[in-house]
Amino acid sequence: MAQKYYIGLDIGGTKILGGLFDENCKMVKRSKKSTKSSQGADVIVGQICKVIDDLLEDSLDGKLVAIGAGCPGIINSKEGIVVFSPNMNWGENFPLKEKMEKKYKVPFFLGNDANILAMGEYKFGAGAGCKNIIGIFIGTGIGGGIIINGKLYEGAVGAAGEIGHTIVLPDGPLCGCGSRGCLESLASRTAMQRDILSQLKKGRTSVITEYMDKEDKMIKSSHLKNTYDKGDELVIEVVDKACYYLGISVGSLMNVFNPDLVIFGGGVIEALGENMMKKIKITAERYCMPKIFESCGFEIGKLGDDAGLYGALSLAMEQ
Ligand SMILES: [Zn+2]
Repeated sequence: MAQKYYIGLDIGGTKILGGLFDENCKMVKRSKKSTKSSQGADVIVGQICKVIDDLLEDSLDGKLVAIGAGCPGIINSKEGIVVFSPNMNWGENFPLKEKMEKKYKVPFFLGNDANILAMGEYKFGAGAGCKNIIGIFIGTGIGGGIIINGKLYEGAVGAAGEIGHTIVLPDGPLCGCGSRGCLESLASRTAMQRDILSQLKKGRTSVITEYMDKEDKMIKSSHLKNTYDKGDELVIEVVDKACYYLGISVGSLMNVFNPDLVIFGGGVIEALGENMMKKIKITAERYCMPKIFESCGFEIGKLGDDAGLYGALSLAMEQ
C-alpha cells in the first residue's frame, strides 16, 4: 500500500519551518524559509508555498493527506482564518485555509502557534501520559496553550491560552495588547532586554555589554545565559524578577485548572531552563494551593524548535 504523508508548518514572524512526516509520525524531510512578514499576505503565502513545494520536491512515493499549521495571533481554527495577528502583516480575517486548499487540493488545518506548541509537547514530547496540561512559551513574547482532558481549550473565538496577558502587576508597564502589567510586559525576553538597558543607562555595569550587539542593543537568550552563568549581578536580578512574575501567573493558573503538568518552552527557557524553573517553582508554590501544587509536575519541553512542527502534524492527523 502507498505510504501516506503529512506536512506540519510552523509559521512565525521571522521564519517558516516545515516538516514532512510519514504515517508513523517520523519526520522524513524539513525545510525553512524567511517569512518576509512586512511585505504583506501575498508574499507570506508565497513563502509558505515555497516551504511546501520544497518538502514535496522529490515526488513522493505515496500520497499527501493533509497539512497542519500554527500561526501567531487570534486564529479561527474552524474556518482556517487568521483573524488578527499583530506581529504579522496579514491584514484582518485572512482566509489562509481557503487559499492553501485551492492550491494543494488537500485539507489544510490552522491553529494558534502557542496552542500548537502545547499540542506538540502533549502528543510527542514532555506531556506523554498527562491529560491536563498548561504549556507556557517564553521568547520575544509569551504564549500559552491549555489542554483539558486531552483536548486543546480554544475558547469562544479561538483566543484562549493567552497566558502572556494575565495581569501580574496592576498598573505595571504598558503591554503590546494595550493593557498594563501583563506577564509578557514583565517576563518576556523583550521585557528583560528593556530592563537591562534601562539599568545600564542609569550607570549600572554588566558583562552583558561585551555580548550584545553594539548597534541594535539586542540581547539574545544566549547572552542572558552566558552572563547569568558568569554570575553577573544585573542579569541575575532581571532574570530572577522575570521568574517571580512567571511564578505568580503559573501559580494562579494552577489554582484555576489543577493541571497534571506545566510545560515550559521557548527560546528563553531553552537557554536558561533549569535556573529559571527552580525560581519559578518557588514563587508558584507560594501562590498556589498546597494540594494543587503537590499534584502538578513542572517540565521543560522536550521537542525544542520542533514542537510546532509536531503540533501541526497532530492537527493534520486528527481532523
Ligand atoms: Zn498584554
